Amino acid sequence: MDYEPVIGLEVHAQLLTQAKIFCGCSAKFGGVPNHHTCPVCLGMPGVLPVLNKKVVEYAMKMALAANCRINGECSFARKNYFYPDLPKGYQISQYDEPLCRGGHLGDVRIHRVHLEEDAAKLVHAGASGRIHGSDASVVDFNRGGTPLAEIVTEPDVRSAAQAREWLTLLRTTLRRLGVSDVNMEEGSLRCDANISIRPVGSTELGTKTELKNMNSFRFIERGINAEVARQEALLRDGGQVVQETLHFDPRTEAITSLRSKEEAHDYRYFPEPDLVPVATSVEMLAAARDAMPELPAAREERLQALGISAADARQLAWRTELGDYFEAALASGNSRVGVQSLANWVCNELVARVGEDDPNASKVRPDALAGLVALVAAKAVTVGNAKLVLDRLVAEGGDPAQIVEAEDLGAIAGGDDALEPIVDAALAANADAAEKIRAGNMKAIGAIIGHVMRETKGRADGAEVTRLVRSKLGL
Ligand code: ADP
Ligand code: MG
Ligand code: ZN
Repeated sequence: MDYEPVIGLEVHAQLLTQAKIFCGCSAKFGGVPNHHTCPVCLGMPGVLPVLNKKVVEYAMKMALAANCRINGECSFARKNYFYPDLPKGYQISQYDEPLCRGGHLGDVRIHRVHLEEDAAKLVHAGASGRIHGSDASVVDFNRGGTPLAEIVTEPDVRSAAQAREWLTLLRTTLRRLGVSDVNMEEGSLRCDANISIRPVGSTELGTKTELKNMNSFRFIERGINAEVARQEALLRDGGQVVQETLHFDPRTEAITSLRSKEEAHDYRYFPEPDLVPVATSVEMLAAARDAMPELPAAREERLQALGISAADARQLAWRTELGDYFEAALASGNSRVGVQSLANWVCNELVARVGEDDPNASKVRPDALAGLVALVAAKAVTVGNAKLVLDRLVAEGGDPAQIVEAEDLGAIAGGDDALEPIVDAALAANADAAEKIRAGNMKAIGAIIGHVMRETKGRADGAEVTRLVRSKLGL
């Protein structure tokens, strides 16, 4: 029997507000431990939380980007559990009245989005050596009370690769919105994966397990694959999946149980009496909608409609600064070039040279790159030499036409008398290759073209050389 994975994701995104969700402390990552604290986020008795309006604003933008229905009113609840990272003994979260329900991002439906406060950070001596000379665990309350939006998907994901791709779309979208810095290393984006498998064709859901807190997209993909394989092996052996919460160790690929269903927390949710319900006004909604930039999914579609390949459109749309660079190049007036060839040069040649860096900060001006691509299109410079020009642009900036001129990199025009004697010489110097071509083996032309390119310093047009060779050999 063949099985298919069924996966639902729960993502925590830290919202990039200046202050924490219920007090005025800085929500900035890091800092001297326990310095971004006050009686509210330390859970002192008698203090009252006050909701940070910016948090609601940011979460609304996120929800709109995920096509969610935003509830006119939402409220907070206490999620009770006892752990040292939670000084109050409960986390303020949302339960039966979340900010919104329903929606979709890409091809994955959203179940709900709700707001909550983050817990403090535990630092264990075991992992990071001895702390203050002891093997104790210590608590850094700087993170306690920073705002989180939790996004829960429907179980629509069907593979580890799809999970990774969807998370990339989510991250790109949140980054574009500017509501989260979505940095997995710093914990501002965290993901749990709920995983079950079922026979292909079945529409029922199998028993799920939950892989907790994986901190890189690569680990998430590997963790899901490992868990799907574990469940398959279990079912094939006649066993059953047990509902439990699991930990995936990316170093050993080992999956261990954190707790079973029986040991699951009973959070005893109840309404938070210290906070009034939140009315999301029409004005707030309209403001969030007005501030919405073009999102990666929409940009991808628009670029594809311009005739750009799916892969390039995605790269340009999902890397905002790369897309901006491309659009600036396209708009530069040097756009006598094909849109796709410009996309090629940006997505392949330029990216190969600037890597992950923002190309807008490079020395290659967008209009210069468009100008270079136009020179290639006009056959004023060969592709090979254009790559050399791009190297120069990356290193020093400048104008591509001037570089071509100064370095004598201009292509030898088709029909130029200069090319003929060079082709003649190449045929004479490679008589056996010439013989093979005459006999119908066109692959042998590589030697001739190579010779001509060496002689012309890459300035000859390959197609023109081929034409000359054919005519001289009477083909
Ligand atoms: P819980 O009460 O354990 O948190 P929920 O019903 O709230 O479970 O769902 C949590 C997440 O698990 C959601 O993303 C949901 O899509 C996913 N999920 C629920 N049931 C399954 C299943 N059988 N297989 C895979 N994912 C599931
Ligand atoms: Mg859950
Ligand atoms: Zn505080």
